[in-house]
Amino acid sequence: MSKGIQSVKGMNDLLPEDSGVWQFVETTIRATAAAYGYREIRTPIPERTELFKRGIGEATDIVEKEMFTWEDRGGDNLTLRPEMTASCVRAGIQHGLFHNQTQRIWYMGPMFRRERPQRGRYRQFHQFGIEAFGWTGAEIDAEVIVFGSRLWKALGITDIALELNTLGSDDTRAKYRDSLVAYLTEHQDVLDEDSQRRLKINPMRVLDSKNPAMQEMIEGAPSIIEFLDVDARSHFDALANYLAKVDIAFKVSPRLVRGLDYYTSTVFEWTTDKLGAQSAVCGGGRYDGLVESLGGRSTPGCGFALGMERLIELVKQSNPDLTGATPDVFVVNIGDSARTAAFGVSEQLREAGMSVVFAAGGGGIKSQMKQADRSGAAFAVILGDEEVANGTVAIKPLTTGEEQQTVPQEELQLALQKRLQ
Ligand code: AMP
Repeated sequence: MSKGIQSVKGMNDLLPEDSGVWQFVETTIRATAAAYGYREIRTPIPERTELFKRGIGEATDIVEKEMFTWEDRGGDNLTLRPEMTASCVRAGIQHGLFHNQTQRIWYMGPMFRRERPQRGRYRQFHQFGIEAFGWTGAEIDAEVIVFGSRLWKALGITDIALELNTLGSDDTRAKYRDSLVAYLTEHQDVLDEDSQRRLKINPMRVLDSKNPAMQEMIEGAPSIIEFLDVDARSHFDALANYLAKVDIAFKVSPRLVRGLDYYTSTVFEWTTDKLGAQSAVCGGGRYDGLVESLGGRSTPGCGFALGMERLIELVKQSNPDLTGATPDVFVVNIGDSARTAAFGVSEQLREAGMSVVFAAGGGGIKSQMKQADRSGAAFAVILGDEEVANGTVAIKPLTTGEEQQTVPQEELQLALQKRLQ
């Protein structure tokens, strides 16, 4: 037998048995966003390729080799978004969201990167992210970080740690760049092909390399911390102070530069050792130059993006028993006239606000009770011809082991409501 048409490599289906956990996480995310006063933004999945080239940076892995890009029939060069910060900025400029106002926004949805698929790394994956536009102070960097921490708490995740760094001011980065280029040039023999190229275009990206053969050399590279000016230092200290105020622990990682070019000043990553090689769950930082570089008025920004697949894997590990929503009632019907009556009863119970699964297709009592158990419902409501003739109905608790009870049909709704409280 043919296997039929398969999904595209690295792009996965979310099956019904898993959607409950996703919905739980999505609901928790929405509630957390509301708790901090962030509002949702939705932007189109394709954008002009130019947006990501200018926004993310030409010398990044994403732009160099991972984008799903094509020329549209009309001749436009389009790309499936590989991340959403650039789209948020594009939309913000287009709709005047940054004019004389601040914005706290969030987004959630699919992103596309043509990476080598493996556990925790897909070609279509999902991100949730927040962006705060219009504030320069370290309190907003702290808020963005604390938001993440609150979310982990709400989801019951504990095995996650914060790494923090600062890329300083433009001046800091220029001085650091010179010193780094000198160091990397000294160690050119260890640099792989990618890094040789980056040394010329964007040397800080070399620190991002995961090549094991280069790790020792990267460890020995100069640290940006030594180049920070007074402003950058005081911003970093203020951030550390806010985090201490709310008991958020962190480790300073001087070589954390993040894979996108738009970051300035604060950068951070939440990592875990529970997901094998893909340890980064959430990354973010400040990007004060991005709005201007995409054609808007100079506007500071700060945010993060987290990988939903990795987050959900962590949630599943911490709460193995987590399931999706289950129905209140499963309606069993034995015989033709009972089926019609039971169909009406199901609709009445839904009218009263209960979630009800009707045993469509009927069948024997045994097979229907098996379906009832599998549905996860708290109660089975059973109607056979005898019950129809007597105007009664049986209620069988499915999760507590309590006895089945028969009640008059007109009392069914109240009886269930009492038990479901
Ligand atoms: P980035 O936009 O590269 O900073 O990524 C932010 C987060 O998105 C990462 O920490 C990961 O959790 C997640 N992520 C990035 N790329 C992928 C991918 N190809 N598959 C799954 N998750 C990803």
